[in-house]
Amino acid sequence: MSNNVRVRFAPSPTGPLHIGGVRTALFNYLFAKKHNGTFILRIEDTDQTRYVPGAEEYISESLFWCGMPYDEGPGTEGEYGPYRQSERKHLYRAYADQLIESGWAYYAFDTAEELDAHRKEHEEKGKTFIYNWHNRLKLKNSLALSPEEVQARVENGEEYVIRFKSPQDEKLLLKDLIRGEIEIDTNILDDKVLFKSDGMPTYHLANIVDDHLMEISHVIRGEEWLPSMALHILLYRAFDWKAPEFAHLPLILKPTGKGKLSKRDGDKLGFPVFPLAWNPVNGDAASGYRESGYFSDAVVNFLALLGWNPGTEQEIFNMEELIESFDIHRVNKSGARFDPEKIKWFNHHYLQAHPNEELAVKFLPFLEAKGIMASPEFVTGVVALNKERADFIADFWDLASYMFIAPESFDEKAVKKQWKEDTDQYVNSVIDLLEEIDDFTSMAAETAVKDWIAAEGLGFGKIMPPLRLALVGEMKGPHVFDIMAFLGKKETTARLRNAVKILG
Ligand code: GLU
Repeated sequence: MSNNVRVRFAPSPTGPLHIGGVRTALFNYLFAKKHNGTFILRIEDTDQTRYVPGAEEYISESLFWCGMPYDEGPGTEGEYGPYRQSERKHLYRAYADQLIESGWAYYAFDTAEELDAHRKEHEEKGKTFIYNWHNRLKLKNSLALSPEEVQARVENGEEYVIRFKSPQDEKLLLKDLIRGEIEIDTNILDDKVLFKSDGMPTYHLANIVDDHLMEISHVIRGEEWLPSMALHILLYRAFDWKAPEFAHLPLILKPTGKGKLSKRDGDKLGFPVFPLAWNPVNGDAASGYRESGYFSDAVVNFLALLGWNPGTEQEIFNMEELIESFDIHRVNKSGARFDPEKIKWFNHHYLQAHPNEELAVKFLPFLEAKGIMASPEFVTGVVALNKERADFIADFWDLASYMFIAPESFDEKAVKKQWKEDTDQYVNSVIDLLEEIDDFTSMAAETAVKDWIAAEGLGFGKIMPPLRLALVGEMKGPHVFDIMAFLGKKETTARLRNAVKILG
């Protein structure tokens, strides 16, 4: 492939970017980087009524958080800017006029009420109303009315739209990089509005004009845009422009596999559907992967495999490896099920791959919030002992708060089961044993206690669970002797004494 690959991610700033949008951006990014091409962010904000303040900033921030900076876009102006359609609005009218002149478009004066009435009338007869060659000559447009009347209406300031004149009785053969060839009968297409009465282009016109002017080579977007592809290809033909190649990505399905994972799912399904938290001044707040403690590498890795497969068993990919392996032809046609457990699994993996010191630095603010002061070395030690069980940084608190604060109470059920009448006496013996050890390592403590258990013929089940309970407060945590060594002789024996005092 030549290195004139130019792809764009073209979201509309109508709210926070859905996780599916992030996947679309990712596939565009990977494709661009794989082919030494250019990744562009274009903001499609022609629909003023749906504009949401803060949404554009949210989109850029999401891309940066995921490690997908754009080469061209708002704030990173290249030769093809501006990159916000609202700043390009002066451009589009001339293109609509060009299509009117060449006979590919026409003025239409039908009001919303009139169109509704037509729709109803058709429905009553069990038919569907399509605004195309079936009906257009019976409607109020420049194909049906005389040129004088059209001119008079326009001069009188009557509201109108500009519609595309879709061809009759043609079989279009569309080519999609993921779906192969798709045949479309143009008779099912309606004459879509290209230019609205508010003086703004519709998505279809602005999108095609900009893709052309920005020299986009490949359009990679969600499956929901597949029904628009025929119109888009016809528009390229009408303008006599070379069309880009198209690739429509599979839908992202709810965890049940039924239905599309939608923005409206918010936090309803028990996991975020947005990359970053969204806290609008008005409207509903929603949680995000970043604020929920996910590493961006985990999110990216997970999203990459949502609809794409490398053709091998490999699951763990950093961004560079993704760029290296990505192949648009290996994207599936069928919907990809969103599995929130899998993204957690990836987070677990990325957490394990982080150095303990770094995790400790990230964990420090959690401790500060609890009013706990601890040295970085101590926190690094806590991380090292508990890492294997952690999926998120916040888990270190649930796993190991007892390493910072000695237990003040003990799990009742465990006490009942583990702390018997003779336990005090055994724990006191262990305290004496431990006091004797000079070099208080995990190994030294283990050897001393186990030798004693063997010599007394006691059995581990009698001794080890009460020790854990005394040190931790409940029956969890790493190897008991590792906990002892980490806490040190003084703290260990103090906790054992305290347990005897409280539980004895
Ligand atoms: N503005 C459209 C969207 O919000 C862009 C679709 C396309 O990529 O053509 O998804």
